[in-house]
Amino acid sequence: MPGKIWFVGAGPGDPDLITVKGRKLLEGAGAVLFAGSLVDQAATQYAPAGCEIRDSKDMTLEEMSAWLISRSQQHASVVRLQTGDPGLYGALIEMTRPLTAAGIEWSVVPGVSSAMASAAAAGETLTLPEVTQTVILTRVEGRTPMPAGEDLAALAAHKTTLCIFLSITLLHKVQEELRRAGWADDAPILVVQKASWPGEEKIVRGTLADIKSKCQALKVASQAMIIASPTLGAADWPDLARSKLYDPTFTHRFRKATENPHES
Ligand code: SAH
Repeated sequence: MPGKIWFVGAGPGDPDLITVKGRKLLEGAGAVLFAGSLVDQAATQYAPAGCEIRDSKDMTLEEMSAWLISRSQQHASVVRLQTGDPGLYGALIEMTRPLTAAGIEWSVVPGVSSAMASAAAAGETLTLPEVTQTVILTRVEGRTPMPAGEDLAALAAHKTTLCIFLSITLLHKVQEELRRAGWADDAPILVVQKASWPGEEKIVRGTLADIKSKCQALKVASQAMIIASPTLGAADWPDLARSKLYDPTFTHRFRKATENPHES
């Protein structure tokens, strides 16, 4: 019987941000294949002595699948450690299909995505009552073409929160597309580089007009999340609509309204 292969989300970089389940799997792994520099700390910190640990940065997808398959012949448990959550820009299905074809069992353990870690680093919320209740996770077109209807201008037209992955070197495109969608030059934009990395995180706050020059000045050109959202800066706004969840007039499953129950 071959062993099982676990696709584990390592979280955004801080080794403390892996899930308890992910950490336990690393502690019991016979072999670990990790995705580049973003997650090596978790791999080396939690994997047991004698565990084979391999960086996948110089491997093709075919080589990765072959490696995972061969290690599953030797160990009961093999971990493929990925940045953030494995279901976002992680080539997950490309890797799992050869495993299924080879009759090897696999499962996915979710992780804290860099989108969430970036908002957390800056003390921002991605949703806010009566401002936006929707988050779009996307990227601009690089070598991977965008499917029809998903160009950033079309998505940005909704004026919701946009978490833009893999696009820090394409900030000029982000600016162009948001302008096309009617975002103002003074719209706030947040860039977080290496969110959650101890001692290495950089938070850049700017506007649609100046975010590119600010990032250039601070040499933020890789491993960065771009967040465009009408919620940015809300911590300092003078007025805020209250979330219904915590509104004393709103009754929900766990709490009865305490005042003006007829208005809830
Ligand atoms: N699966 C990952 C995303 C992988 S794609 C996740 O859920 O986060 C790689 C992109 O993710 C990078 O180009 C960058 O946009 C973003 N990213 C990954 N780690 C990051 C971090 N610690 N801080 C900011 N952005 C990060």
